[in-house]
Amino acid sequence: MINVTIADTAGFCFGVKRAVDTVYQAIENAPSPIYTWGPIIHNEHVVGDFEKKGVMVLDEDTAELPSEGTVVIRSHGITRETQERLQASGMQVIDATCPFVQKIHQIVETQGKEGRDVIIVGNPSHPEVIGIKGWATGPCYVVSSVEDLKICDFSTNNKLCVVAQTTFNYEYFKEIVEIIKNLVYDVSVLNTICNATKERQLEARELAAKSDTMLVVGSKSSSNTQKLYSICKEFCDDTYYIQTLSDLVTVHFGSDNRVGITAGASTPNNIIQEVSQYVRRKEF
Ligand code: SF4
Repeated sequence: MINVTIADTAGFCFGVKRAVDTVYQAIENAPSPIYTWGPIIHNEHVVGDFEKKGVMVLDEDTAELPSEGTVVIRSHGITRETQERLQASGMQVIDATCPFVQKIHQIVETQGKEGRDVIIVGNPSHPEVIGIKGWATGPCYVVSSVEDLKICDFSTNNKLCVVAQTTFNYEYFKEIVEIIKNLVYDVSVLNTICNATKERQLEARELAAKSDTMLVVGSKSSSNTQKLYSICKEFCDDTYYIQTLSDLVTVHFGSDNRVGITAGASTPNNIIQEVSQYVRRKEF
């Protein structure tokens, strides 16, 4: 008999689930039309479902904001300036910024007011980082590598605060922090990396190691799903990348296989369940 185990951490993290649920609630209860600020999630099924329900996407390139309806801010968060712009528009604003990201906004704002320059360790073009930078009240630099530290001017202020993008690699964050500490006298380091990604990868590795077949469910364009796939492949040779149920047709399951299932952060639970049910119903 096939034995199926779904990883506890498969699929949406807490912050993304909260944002997606918020949009569904807004469709039911909030003044329409409903907008999201940027795509709420990088998953074509979820975005397609929202589109069918009339949800539209606004972003920085939207020249003129609507004056009625509701806009939901996604888990990545936004800058203070954008928040003020949305609040002045006349739309109802529902803030689904992940609380872990909101905390970084507060740190950056408070530490700036206390006279510290800020370094954000992260990808400068990622919406979360752009949002965090937008809460700085003084000099604020974004660095994604040791080389990037060249852009920082440490000559005018010896007091510094360092935070990280929530999904930044912890080991590399530590390496960058050590170098900063050698350059600046008074450094306040706040490790703001979220454990959701790390925990999903650790569990995937453990599950893959004890499975005969491993299914990694998610979009091919999702970088965290690709990473999960490569981790699982390392520990279970029979690992498959499943985007839709049709990908399962080519997978061969032995009648007493132990099948593990994990999924990327943008994979909805109903797709994970569909995959699991397909495997459980398989006849031999
Ligand atoms: S901070 Fe963590 S929980 Fe929040 S959205 Fe990002 S990955 Fe998800």
